[in-house]
Amino acid sequence: MLTEALLLGSSSFKLDDVIAETHVITLSVSSVQTDAVCPKCQRRAQRVHSLYSRTAADLPIAAFRVRLRLLVRRFFCDNDACKRKTFAERFPELVAVYARRTRRLAAQQRAVGLSLGGQAGAKLLRSIAMPTSGDTVLRLVKDVAAQSDSTPRVLGIDDWAWSKGQRYGTILVDLEQHRVVDLLPERSTETLAAWLRAHPGIKIVSRDRALEYIKGIEQGAPDAVQVADRWHLMRNLADALIRLLDQNRACLYAAAAEPTAEPIPEAPPASPETETVVSSMPTKLEQRQQETRERRLVRYQAITDLHEQGTKVRTIARQLGISRGTVQRYLKAGGFPEMSKRGEQSSILDAYLPYLQQRWAEGCHNGLQLYREIQQKGYCGSRPSVSRWVARMRKQAPPRKRPNEAAPRLKEVVTRPWSARYAVWLLLKQPETLEPEKKAALERMLKVSPVLLPAYNFAQTFLRMVRNRYWKGLRPWLDAVIENKIPELAGFAKSLKQDFNAVFAAMSLPWSNGQVEGHVNRLKLIKRQMYGRAGFDLLRRRVIAS
Ligand SMILES: [Zn+2]
Repeated sequence: MLTEALLLGSSSFKLDDVIAETHVITLSVSSVQTDAVCPKCQRRAQRVHSLYSRTAADLPIAAFRVRLRLLVRRFFCDNDACKRKTFAERFPELVAVYARRTRRLAAQQRAVGLSLGGQAGAKLLRSIAMPTSGDTVLRLVKDVAAQSDSTPRVLGIDDWAWSKGQRYGTILVDLEQHRVVDLLPERSTETLAAWLRAHPGIKIVSRDRALEYIKGIEQGAPDAVQVADRWHLMRNLADALIRLLDQNRACLYAAAAEPTAEPIPEAPPASPETETVVSSMPTKLEQRQQETRERRLVRYQAITDLHEQGTKVRTIARQLGISRGTVQRYLKAGGFPEMSKRGEQSSILDAYLPYLQQRWAEGCHNGLQLYREIQQKGYCGSRPSVSRWVARMRKQAPPRKRPNEAAPRLKEVVTRPWSARYAVWLLLKQPETLEPEKKAALERMLKVSPVLLPAYNFAQTFLRMVRNRYWKGLRPWLDAVIENKIPELAGFAKSLKQDFNAVFAAMSLPWSNGQVEGHVNRLKLIKRQMYGRAGFDLLRRRVIAS
């Protein structure tokens, strides 16, 4: 009974001996068959030539490692026509020819490798009495036969980033079975076309609107219906609106015009591919200078935008919350006035200006005190330059009733405008789902720019058509948008027109790449676990198998 349990419930083996040592149990096993089949001619043979033993690692018992010692008989092949004179008997259900581990142990080690990868897998296997090297774990995983044998009927195609968006691969998902069918190492027409040709019978392919994929499907599966993925359609619309907002920055100013209690989020639209690239971090000072410059630049653009649209100086000042004098100064400048053009100031002092301004705003107007403070911070310029700066500040800021209040120079800094990436969500969301203050911001945006209102209406109509699969509206919508000539939206509409059949299918068929995102996230997780050390082949097998 125990023997059978240990030896696959097979009655073709017998247990001859059990030796327990400190960490290892050795099971001596031999065959009870009287004959064996010649691997060359398939004839049965009975004459034993010799005996030898081979060992194979097996599944553990309790905390003991297990070693099978198989007594192997070598037989004579008595078939005169056979070229094989002798052969060793085989135990195919227990252990593969030449293998050093039983099939069932290999299966366990492979399963661990599939979810943990080579090094981490080997570490776990050591602690559960199935020790092996990381390389062996990887080899076992690679031995899994490629599983892309069944051809899906409905295929979803998307790309995934190898590393921070520098190189892309392709993921193929069976949208009916909800599983990854295959992973391709690149995002190219040729690779995709070749894969599709090798898997005939696909009826529907959902994909983004990258030209590589469109052409790849045309070449590899010309009969398949192409569906433009709805998520990517929304994404493309959002991108067009972001460009539009960036061209009309007054809207972004208007959105932020009313002070809100909450900080302005910098959240980009929820794209699964969005990965923030943090380049070398600027110092605090650089950051502050950069922010100040950006704020001024944005304000400058808002002023010139509004001015070009014929808005009066007084209205601009009110909308942007700045003085009329400032508006006039910017307009007179004839270009964006850079801060550092004031040659009067010593360059050594420049680096300490943010600190001085901060102290000034806090109420410290004493030249000597300020001079000493920046000396502590490494200032090696003269005291008179500090005094000159203080004098200038005094002139600009006549004494006020409350000395603690911020100096006017700082007060002049207006509310930060919203980023286009953030503001675009006001345009995309269903208006009835907007919170009151967001709705108010949206209304302010729409009032400021004459092109935004029609663009907003077009966008909302498009989103409604997609949501409700109102395919009848597509062609009239495309024509109307192109005729309206808002460049960003017209460009979007033209690109849809070039891909008309697929966009039309997106509005009339239920298929979409929604679930692919989940598979891409799982892929990212596996990729991260592998620390980029294992190659594409292993990544592919792990993504398909897990
Ligand atoms: Zn033979």
